[in-house]
Amino acid sequence: MGALLEGHFRLTSGLHSSGYLQCALVLQHPVEAEACGTAIADRVRTLSPDVVLSPALGGIVIGQEVGRALGVRAIFAERQDGSLTLRRGFAIAPAEKVLVVEDVVTTGGSTQETIDVARAAGATVVAAAAIIDRSGGNQRIDVPFHALATIALPTYEPEQCPLCAAGKPVVKPGSRL
Ligand SMILES: [Zn+2]
Repeated sequence: MGALLEGHFRLTSGLHSSGYLQCALVLQHPVEAEACGTAIADRVRTLSPDVVLSPALGGIVIGQEVGRALGVRAIFAERQDGSLTLRRGFAIAPAEKVLVVEDVVTTGGSTQETIDVARAAGATVVAAAAIIDRSGGNQRIDVPFHALATIALPTYEPEQCPLCAAGKPVVKPGSRL
């Protein structure tokens, strides 16, 4: 689907990479989005989550599809003054079991932040899941983590990035990519 881009990218985590996964290019197709959601749901169904929680924007579409496949509601947290927050009247009850869903996990930072949103509401996070794990096994997530596919893409601290050293302009994937 052309979602795996090659070049010189500054990821949301701040790391640089020669590869970027633009999952929106897959998720724009409802049939594929639903298939990814069903596949994630099949891996976590036995945990009986009550609600799917995703970080905006990247996690919203896949979170919705996982919620559909599990027959539970899907909500999202969004950034306000720098921290992820539940808005729009979304709420999680302390008794609820939460599944955190993302599109791509690189460092696990935003996934862990989303887990912390659910815990702040007093709820239990039973697992986290993503379409793609590109962390190379280095993600820091303190609940069981499931991914549909693991892809090894090199990431670099900016000051150690060979692409920067070679003088290649760095691109922040966003509206244009
Ligand atoms: Zn670089």
